[in-house]
Amino acid sequence: YRHIKYGIVGTATAVVFLCFALKQYTSPYVLFLWVFVVTLAFIPRLLLIMEFSRKLKSQEITPQNIKPWEYKMFLYTSILYVTFVSVIFLPFGDNVLIGILYCTFMFTFLTTGAVVILSTSLPTILPFVSLFLFAIIIRLLLFQEVLFYILAFIVFLGYLQTLNVIFRQHKMIIENIDTKLKNNQFALIDPLTKLWNRRRLDLHVEKLVPATQRSGEPFSLIIMDIDHFKKYNDTKGHAAGDELLIKVAHVLLECSREEDLVVRYGGEEFIVLLPRTRISDAAVIAGRVSSTVKEKTGVTISAGLAEYSDKLNFDELVQKADTALYTAKHNGRDQYVLAPA
Ligand code: GH3
Ligand code: MG
Ligand code: MG
Repeated sequence: YRHIKYGIVGTATAVVFLCFALKQYTSPYVLFLWVFVVTLAFIPRLLLIMEFSRKLKSQEITPQNIKPWEYKMFLYTSILYVTFVSVIFLPFGDNVLIGILYCTFMFTFLTTGAVVILSTSLPTILPFVSLFLFAIIIRLLLFQEVLFYILAFIVFLGYLQTLNVIFRQHKMIIENIDTKLKNNQFALIDPLTKLWNRRRLDLHVEKLVPATQRSGEPFSLIIMDIDHFKKYNDTKGHAAGDELLIKVAHVLLECSREEDLVVRYGGEEFIVLLPRTRISDAAVIAGRVSSTVKEKTGVTISAGLAEYSDKLNFDELVQKADTALYTAKHNGRDQYVLAPA
């Protein structure tokens, strides 16, 4: 996606060259219409790529949520390429063969370029190659002449060769993206509980706080700590302690919503960040978590809750929640305390 500008320049060049090549074979009106439609069809795809690269940078794209992007990319690219393919069915006058051959070369170069520069995945790119070249083959077969049958066969051989390139290129690119994503993800996930870690929290907060300041929507934070965890470790062993942490993490994920960020903040401390949530609603979740943990594991947890306000920065918000947690511990544990506004 870093090479998007080359993709744009390449496509624009292709459109211009096609216009020149087709000028003598078709009417200016048809040509104008075609360029207009191709340009329009290019816009959604361009916006999508820009949005995608932005989210990729801010690490909002994960292997779990990449699928819808791929489908959209597939759809928008289809629209664009259908407009491209349509050119071979334009009226070419007498010199049909030159027009079609020219288009064939252009399509092949374009596709190969697209694979090399922009390839996302096999399901995205494969249909276009097929779409391109089969449209050309069908167009050639429609002439029902021996020469055109031979040309169609040559194009088909070209199609097989292109497939070969795509499969090899695809494997390399996907492997690259995969390792990159995995490295990014690994750096943000706690290996024991598979919850997000503090680094992920920091990244999230960097965006959440300014967004909250802009929108004026509330958000709340819960900080939780397992009660007497040291004793649990001492009596049942460290491995059982680890098991308990994993179980608590599961409960946290179960009780939170999709948009909440669940973080392992320290050894046996967890933070749940709840966007668009008042502290009173966060309290409901804290209550649900603590009763579920008690029910499933027999241990109790204490929690401190705080709601964000303009006057605080994020560290101060955590500090506020932490003070509330301390009060909960001090008051006998197994409870949650709301920090005053
Ligand atoms: P309190 O109710 O006041 O929170 O008492 P506590 O014993 O839970 O508090 P404390 O913070 O003193 O103890 C935390 C313990 O958590 C100490 C440490 O051995 C344990 N711990 C931290 N990380 C891990 C971990 O990854 N696995 C296990 N098994 N134990 C951990
Ligand atoms: Mg602790
Ligand atoms: Mg503790």
